[in-house]
Amino acid sequence: MPVRGGVSTGFTLKRPIIWVFPLILQLFTFAAGQAAEAEIRVDLEARRALISGSFSQSEETAAKSNLSFLLSIASVDRLGERIDGLRAFDHDGAELSVRQLIAGEYLAAKPPQRFSFGVRLEPPANRLASPHVSWLGKEGGLLMLGDLLPFEGRRERSARLKVILPRGWRTVSVYSAEADGSLKIDDVSRAVIAVVRENTQPIKFRSKRGAAYEMLVTGEWQFTRADAEEMLGEIAEEYEKLFDRDPAENVLVNILPFPQGGGVGEWAAETRGQTVTIVSGDTPFKTQSVQRLHEQLRHELFHLWLPNGVKLTGNYDWFYEGAALYHSLKTGTRLGRITFANFLETLSQAAAIDARMPAGSLLDASAGRWRGNTTGVYARGILTAFALDVAMQDASRGKRSMDLFVRRLYAENREREADGNATILRMLGEMAETTPLAERHIKGSERLDMAKIGLAAGVAWDGRRFTLTEKPSGRQRAILRDLGYNSERRRPRYQNEK
Ligand SMILES: [Zn+2]
Repeated sequence: MPVRGGVSTGFTLKRPIIWVFPLILQLFTFAAGQAAEAEIRVDLEARRALISGSFSQSEETAAKSNLSFLLSIASVDRLGERIDGLRAFDHDGAELSVRQLIAGEYLAAKPPQRFSFGVRLEPPANRLASPHVSWLGKEGGLLMLGDLLPFEGRRERSARLKVILPRGWRTVSVYSAEADGSLKIDDVSRAVIAVVRENTQPIKFRSKRGAAYEMLVTGEWQFTRADAEEMLGEIAEEYEKLFDRDPAENVLVNILPFPQGGGVGEWAAETRGQTVTIVSGDTPFKTQSVQRLHEQLRHELFHLWLPNGVKLTGNYDWFYEGAALYHSLKTGTRLGRITFANFLETLSQAAAIDARMPAGSLLDASAGRWRGNTTGVYARGILTAFALDVAMQDASRGKRSMDLFVRRLYAENREREADGNATILRMLGEMAETTPLAERHIKGSERLDMAKIGLAAGVAWDGRRFTLTEKPSGRQRAILRDLGYNSERRRPRYQNEK
């Protein structure tokens, strides 16, 4: 651990306490060699990894005899079945007898200090699970530490990691390497390490606020590198403006083809910590390929701020998924990448899905996210975001909006640990125009009235789809401008694309 700025400088600063305190903690932690460590030895041919490591020396380590792996994530389960040959050792290096309780859950005779095991890393059978779990393919792969290290059920979160690869390969991540090549991971559950060929050059973008974005594009695509570079820059800047802050010092975006092949037109993505992973099949035409990458980036980059940049807890995905979809749409029209007709078409599709959803509050639906309700939560989420935005802008003559709402939510909760739903409902309850929406449609199970939610913006509902009022009033026009209406003129080359 290099000492930042030199110890002597720190002690003579005007506010020495602030500097000295964390410094002492760091020196103590690392000088004593207490951090957890892990080494991942990757065999790309065999699609396996050998992992060894140790827990930090702590009261927790001294007390816990279990070795627990993540068993399921998103829609993927039985993750523990990939583990084999698990061994555990005590502090003196003596091997401990270990009993498997279920695949991925082990009990040692005494609290283990060190461990080693093998893990099979074939790509998941369901290709849409590819951005959520670790795997190795012909063109590299993903190491998601959350499903590789036996840290489940422990407070242990940080680790010093060494990845050993065959010649010709390297890792890319948001973590900088130390002199010996090891990565200092602050939270293994948020860590994603990409394995790529050594000659892979990431696209780099530095935002005006100074955040360093890297984008790795592997595989063959209809969009060009220049297309991807332009999109990354414009979307990152747009969201940094929206949230009035950069999302992190370093951001990594992985664009990968499905390791299982195929899946034309399909894609799946996850934004974990500061890393966006988008796994796709390509599209038949270039225009679609460009449009889709833009849409994927608009949605996923939003998650760097919400929910990944805040400490809110609980199932409030109805809000952050709805907001991600909604702001992705707004950003698409504002940047002239989609037309206002596309904007209304997407909301109409959401309304059609919403109509088929059973009655129930958004809070309840959210709790069942991975049990088949995802699409419904997303659809009702984006419609709710639209309704809130129009209501706020109408009541405040543009002084309040969803833009300002998400900016404030982000600013106030970056360091504050609180329940997500309670926080959002409290904020909505502070405004007369959003209180009824929160009471009836978010907490309560009353359906949104499509004929009403867009009217103040000049967006009517004909029973099947949203349409633009023929002659919007000045007040309606003001809201329409905020929604990106007319922006497409700025970028005519995309105007006629679906
Ligand atoms: Zn999302």
